[in-house]
Amino acid sequence: MSDNTSNRSAANNSDHTTTHPHRVPNFSAGPATIPTQVLARAQNEMLDWQGRGVSVMEVSHRSKEYLAIVEKAESKLRALMDIPDNYKVLFLQGGASLQFSAIPLNLLQGGQADYLTTGTWSKKALKEASRYAKLGLGAVHEVASAKDSNFTDVPSSSTWHVSDDAAYFHYCVNETIHGVQIFEPPQVDAPLIADMSSCILSQPIDVSKFGMIYAGAQKNIGPAGLVIVIIRDDLLNQASDWCPLLMNYGHQAEKESMSNTPATYSWYLAGLVFDWLEEQGGVEAIGKINQQKADLLYNAIDNSAFYHNAVAKPYRSIMNVPFTLADSSLDKVFLAESEQAGLLSLKGHREVGGMRASIYNAVPLEWVQQLVDFMQAFEKKYA
Ligand SMILES: *Cc1c(COP(=O)(O)O)cnc(C)c1O
Repeated sequence: MSDNTSNRSAANNSDHTTTHPHRVPNFSAGPATIPTQVLARAQNEMLDWQGRGVSVMEVSHRSKEYLAIVEKAESKLRALMDIPDNYKVLFLQGGASLQFSAIPLNLLQGGQADYLTTGTWSKKALKEASRYAKLGLGAVHEVASAKDSNFTDVPSSSTWHVSDDAAYFHYCVNETIHGVQIFEPPQVDAPLIADMSSCILSQPIDVSKFGMIYAGAQKNIGPAGLVIVIIRDDLLNQASDWCPLLMNYGHQAEKESMSNTPATYSWYLAGLVFDWLEEQGGVEAIGKINQQKADLLYNAIDNSAFYHNAVAKPYRSIMNVPFTLADSSLDKVFLAESEQAGLLSLKGHREVGGMRASIYNAVPLEWVQQLVDFMQAFEKKYA
């Protein structure tokens, strides 16, 4: 790292995210920052897309020009994540939350599903699946909950009550609100269903260990309105009769995610983000930067008695870093002064309080350095 990284104007020119004079460090949890280069390209193409005198939003999703975009987006995502051929990639709507319903409706099949609860999102997924269990579609079982640690730790897998013959095992890889991340996929026999909304593409993973991966786009991929589902072929075509057609994975796979009109602009923008990520060197390269960013911020927190992060070290998220001040009466001052300093969206989620810095792929190291510099100056002033 250069010694002038704290100076925004001195930021490396190759770093597109900081070159526009009005773009500021944005630590929003979601919808989150999108690379400036991607937004600039979308802006360029807005009025006259591919020289056709229309925007990409104004053409048929079945036109050959639009289909070329979606084919490229899928093949880039497949290359970035090294997705095996026996997985389908679906680009659907309804956010990650609609998947909380789609998963049991497609996969429960009268059996029992296991759920691991490690924070708000996995709790919501379990609650939604329980509604279908009540309707008689099967049974839903919580294998363990992190509530005893107030969602700052993950119960050891030796204490989990895993079912025999579970239809699937659901967990949330990165709990966006609590800042808790599970880095190794749980070793269970049932197909693993993983909510990766806030960590997809942030570091290399082995897709073949999962039955299904899903992620809302608005954290690490692009604009809201799109959810990506990566699903192994054998899990298609098992949906209950109750499953709405648009949520039926087999049907959507057959229709290539175009059972109805898809979120065409979000899909297009996701493709531009995949191009950008490829230009950054892909997932492995961005994963190294993400680790550097997280280390920089956690070290600053750990080396200070003024700031605190409560999450057990092996589970600290590399994407969402919640932290508190020793004196919580200073929270409002911290938020006001950080915003004045041009550092946006550091307020913690209302369930957790304090602060949270979301440091997704599109947040460059320089922004994290600026945040750390601000935190140190703030501590000097108020400690
Ligand atoms: C944001 C988020 C969701 C919900 O996403 P929506 O698109 O708003 O439905 C679910 N899971 C995780 C891990 C998230 O971060």
